Amino acid sequence: MKPNVLIVCLVSLCVLTWPAREPAHAAGADTPMMSPDEALQRLRDGNTRFQRDKRKNPEQGPARRVEVAQKGQRPFVTVVGCSDSRVPLEHVFDAGIGELFVVRVAGNVCDTDEIGSVEYGTDHLGTPLLVVLGHSRCGAVTAVLKGEEVHGSIPQLVDNIVPAAARAKARLGEAFSNELLNAAIEQNVWQSIQDVLTRSHAVSERVKGKKLKIVGAIYDLENGTVSWLGEHPDQASLLTGHAAGHGPALPLGFIGAGAGILVVALGFYLLFFFDRTRFRRMTVKRRMIGGNVAATLMTLFATAGIAWEFSRMGSHVPLWAWALALAIPAAAMLAFSLLATGSIMDSFKRIVKAVKEGRVGTGR
Ligand SMILES: [Zn+2]
Repeated sequence: MKPNVLIVCLVSLCVLTWPAREPAHAAGADTPMMSPDEALQRLRDGNTRFQRDKRKNPEQGPARRVEVAQKGQRPFVTVVGCSDSRVPLEHVFDAGIGELFVVRVAGNVCDTDEIGSVEYGTDHLGTPLLVVLGHSRCGAVTAVLKGEEVHGSIPQLVDNIVPAAARAKARLGEAFSNELLNAAIEQNVWQSIQDVLTRSHAVSERVKGKKLKIVGAIYDLENGTVSWLGEHPDQASLLTGHAAGHGPALPLGFIGAGAGILVVALGFYLLFFFDRTRFRRMTVKRRMIGGNVAATLMTLFATAGIAWEFSRMGSHVPLWAWALALAIPAAAMLAFSLLATGSIMDSFKRIVKAVKEGRVGTGR
């Protein structure tokens, strides 16, 4: 009788908690919905209809509203587009409710919040395709090219476009022209893709696992056509982290910190322990200073190395890593204080005694 009661309880628990558990991965990020190329074709077809004024306006009625409200969303693409009112994405791709996961921001840049939104669309909702869509005559890119004065929070927004503008100018010169603007608009699309690939572990892993395709595109304001640029030309090297301007895949931060710590440890050993007799004659105060200087240097190396690596990982630093990051320098500090003095408490007592007897800095 008792096991039956247990089974009934377990089944009831499962049934009761089922609706609560399901939205955790509402759309099932790992259940394939369609291939990246099928998703891309769907966008191409939608844009052709829009461009030829043959829109079907699919999936926009009350029934669709209710369906997606109750069953949850299952968009087939994540699109990063410009806030520009002339680039309405659902119209441009003739798409309906619940089809496009849209991130719209002036200049279609990808900074922290945009990357978070992209991660939600691609990793959580599992869209097989990510499109970064620039557009002709983009005001944000123009402002950066012309060096226009911007105020409020706009400088922090447009600084994402600066590298793209610089690359375009390096190729075509400083003078503003339509050619320069178009080159910068394209570079800006590549820049956003680069920022996502290099700053988002979740996204780069999905691309590596062939679960996600990222393509660039540019929308023409006048004729309504989307020109597809394909994948980032340096995608392979961006995925391995070898892109210019970004840290290589080698954990240079950890390697540098390790080397720095070793050098300090070696120096400390040579200066303090190598000559045993000299060490024994050394004042406690000197040992303390030596040990703490070494420990401080090691802590600095460790913290700098960890900070460097964490900054490369973006928001994907797990809690245990932060705990370790604090524990390692603390342990180094403790270990070197112990090494330098034999025992912290012991040397503390000796220092107090020495101070009391007026022997500070005179040895023994
Ligand atoms: Zn724009």
